[in-house]
Amino acid sequence: MTTNGHQPHDPPTKTGIRVVIVGAGFAGLTAAIECHRHGHTPIVVEKFPSLKPLGDIISFAPNSSRIFDRWPGVAQKLDPISLRPPGLTIKSFKGDTLYHQVWTEEETNWGLRFDGHRGEFHQIVFQHAVEHCGIDVRLGATVVDYFEDDNEAGVVLEGGEKISGDVVLAAEGVRSKGRTTVLGYEDAPKPSGYAVYRSWFSTKDTVAQDPELDWLVKNGDRHVAWLGPDVHFIAATLKNGEDISWVCTHKDDKDIGESWQWEAPLSDARKVLEGWEPNIQRILDRTPEPLIDWKLVYRDPLTTWISPKRRIALIGDAAHPFLPTSIQGASQAMEDGATIAVCLKQAGRGRVSEAVEVFEALRYERVKSAQKTGEQTRDIWHKADFGAAKKDPESFRLRREEWLLNFDAESYAEREYQRTVEVVREKGVLEARELHIPAGRYGYLEYNGSIEKN
Ligand SMILES: Cc1cc2nc3c(=O)[nH]c(=O)nc-3n(C[C@H](O)[C@H](O)[C@H](O)COP(=O)(O)OP(=O)(O)OC[C@H]3O[C@@H](n4cnc5c(N)ncnc54)[C@H](O)[C@@H]3O)c2cc1C
Repeated sequence: MTTNGHQPHDPPTKTGIRVVIVGAGFAGLTAAIECHRHGHTPIVVEKFPSLKPLGDIISFAPNSSRIFDRWPGVAQKLDPISLRPPGLTIKSFKGDTLYHQVWTEEETNWGLRFDGHRGEFHQIVFQHAVEHCGIDVRLGATVVDYFEDDNEAGVVLEGGEKISGDVVLAAEGVRSKGRTTVLGYEDAPKPSGYAVYRSWFSTKDTVAQDPELDWLVKNGDRHVAWLGPDVHFIAATLKNGEDISWVCTHKDDKDIGESWQWEAPLSDARKVLEGWEPNIQRILDRTPEPLIDWKLVYRDPLTTWISPKRRIALIGDAAHPFLPTSIQGASQAMEDGATIAVCLKQAGRGRVSEAVEVFEALRYERVKSAQKTGEQTRDIWHKADFGAAKKDPESFRLRREEWLLNFDAESYAEREYQRTVEVVREKGVLEARELHIPAGRYGYLEYNGSIEKN
C-alpha cells in the first residue's frame, strides 16, 4: 500500500485527464508518476535518445524525500547510495573549524535527506516511472513548438508529429521553449557572476590512498565546506567513503552558457584555490582531469508560469531555476509535480484550466521564498568576516527552516485547493497567490534583513 491507501499497481479511478509532459528530468518524471498515482494519463517526451548517468551531486531535502516515500521501493534504493555523514563541518579556507552542524533533530522530526549522484538517482526514478507505473516515456523526442486552444493543448515534435492532451507541463529545464509560449517573449538568462567547478570520482587509488586525506573516507562518509573570500569549496564522500564529490563556487563573469557538459582543466580551479589550506591542495592533486565547469545563470522570477488559455504550465527549472546554495532546486521541482497532480484531480477534466491557475497560486510565493534562501546563504558564506564570525560561529550554519523543509506538497494542495479556487474565481490568480506566502515576515523569515537566531 502507498501512503494514500492505493495499491501501487492499482491506481485510483481514471480521471480521463491526458497530461503531456515535456522533459524527463526530476520535474517531469515526478509530475508523471504523481499524475499516474492520481488517476490521470501522462505521456512524457524527452529529447535525450537514451538514459545517461549525467551530472554529479544533487540534493533532495525532507520536503521531497516524502514524495519519494510514496513511491514503493524508491527511497529504499536511494538510501544506500546517499550521503550519510555525521554532519557538515564548516571551515575557513585556512583550515580552522568554524562550526559543525548536525542533522539528527531534522531527520527525526522532518525526514531524511537524499544527497547523491544525479545520474544514479535519475535512473532509479526513471525505472520506477517506466517499469513500475508503466508510464509512456518517449525518448529521442524533441519538442519544437507548443499550442493550445480552449479545449486542448499539445506539442509539436521535431519531424512534425503532434501530441495533444488536456494539459501540457513544460518541464524542459532552464532552456525552456515552453517559457517563450507562456510569456509571449524570449526570456534570456543573465550571468550571475558565479560559476561552479565540479568533480566526482572514486576514492579508491586516489583520496583513500593518501594518509593525509584518508580521514575523508575512514569512518564512512564526510561532508566538509571550506569558506574563503567570495569562494566556497564543499567536499563530500559517499557510499561509505567509496566515492568523492567536490564543488567549488567562485566568481566568474566570462560566459552565460547553461550546460552540464562543459569542461575546464584542473589548473583553473588551482588558480582560484591558491593559498587555501593543504587539505584542499591534496584533494586537487588527487582529482582526475577535466572538471565540469557549470556557469550559474540568474533569471528574474517570471511574472507567470501559466499560458494565456491556462492549458500549459511551466514546472521545475523551466519555471524557476535555483542557485545551488538554496539546496532546493530539485526538491521544488518535485513539489511542482506533486501539486499539479492533486490540482487536476480536484478540478476534474471539465475544469483543467482552473487546476492550472490554482497550481500557480499554490506554488508561486513559496518557490520565490525558497529561491531567496540561496542568495542569502551564498552571501553569508562568501562575504564572511572570519574574525567577527569566530565569536558567533552559528552565523555560518546552513539555515534549515521548518516552513521550507517540513512541508508536504500533496497534503497542502489537497487541503488548500477549495479555498484557493474560490479566490481564483472571484479575484484571479494574482490575489490567490497571496494566500500562500509562507508564514513569517514576507515569507522569507530570517532571510530578510539581519540574521536572527532561532
Ligand atoms: C544532464 C543534466 C545534469 C544535471 N546535473 C546536475 C547535478 O549534478 N547537480 C544538480 O544539482 N543539478 C543537476 N542538474 C539540474 C537538476 O537536475 C535540476 O536543477 C533539477 O532537478 C530540476 O529538474 P528539471 O526536471 O526541472 O530540469 P532538468 O533536470 O534540466 O530536466 C529537463 C529535461 O528536459 C529535457 N528537454 C529539454 N528541452 C527539451 C525539448 N525541447 N524537448 C524534449 N525534452 C527536452 C532535457 O533533456 C532534460 O532531460 C542537471 C540537469 C541535467 C539536464
